[in-house]
Amino acid sequence: MLAGIDLGGTQVRVALARSDGRLVASVKTRTHLLATPQDMVDWAAAEIDRHRGREKVRSITIAAPGPIDVKRGVLVNPPNLPWQNVPLAAMMSSATGARVQLANDADMAGLGEFHHGAGRSTRNMVYITWSTGVGGGLIIDGKLHRGGHGTAGEIGHMIIDPNGPLDNCGQRGCLEAFVSGTALARETGKPAAELFAIAARGDQHARAVVEKAARYMGIALISLTNALDPEMFVIGGGVSRSWALVQPTMLATLRSSPFIKPARRPSLRRARLGDRAGQVGAVEWARINQ
Ligand SMILES: [Zn+2]
Repeated sequence: MLAGIDLGGTQVRVALARSDGRLVASVKTRTHLLATPQDMVDWAAAEIDRHRGREKVRSITIAAPGPIDVKRGVLVNPPNLPWQNVPLAAMMSSATGARVQLANDADMAGLGEFHHGAGRSTRNMVYITWSTGVGGGLIIDGKLHRGGHGTAGEIGHMIIDPNGPLDNCGQRGCLEAFVSGTALARETGKPAAELFAIAARGDQHARAVVEKAARYMGIALISLTNALDPEMFVIGGGVSRSWALVQPTMLATLRSSPFIKPARRPSLRRARLGDRAGQVGAVEWARINQ
């Protein structure tokens, strides 16, 4: 059997599947109930043990927030978890006896959408999670592209304006510094969810802020199209729930490029798997790496 674990700042999910990827069980708990990495490993290992029946679990993937060291299986210092330099893959492997991979959560969500969600018909797809931060997963020629050091797809840190605001990463004018939920909250003094809610109700100022963010995201889509020539963009994350507010501006911006002719213009879709995307992708990665 296979297992996929999605470790998020709010929830931890475990999914068990047959070796062909068919899901047999899925459970979740709140991350704050698991005080230490060892607690998380013990909880996940117990859930896997409870649902595996007599079958052996051979391969497990843990989807975790970056930065992570994919080669060594180490969680480095995720911004939304108080854990640092945790050798999570080795810990899970000694708790379960399985082969364990640690993978970037946005990569796994992208892989989930590619195999089982909005991107199923494609071979080249860019997944963007647009939420409190901005992350991405690249599918090139039908495969997850992780790059030379496992860090490809950091779409949030593409520089949109070199004179722009300083981002947490130390660069100036990153996409994330203009469009992330955190940046929009800082700009308006309102939580991003509230900003999108009042924009949906027609507030002119909120609408203008949201449209500006969607335009910046559209500019990023132009650069990504020129670099990667994808067939489709799949947008997930909290902001994708406000699809009607952001989609028209993103699409209009993408279409405004005279260089990207209609014949090679990628389509733009909302993600389909919601907050299950990470666990679905993690199971898929466990299947590919079993
Ligand atoms: Zn940055």
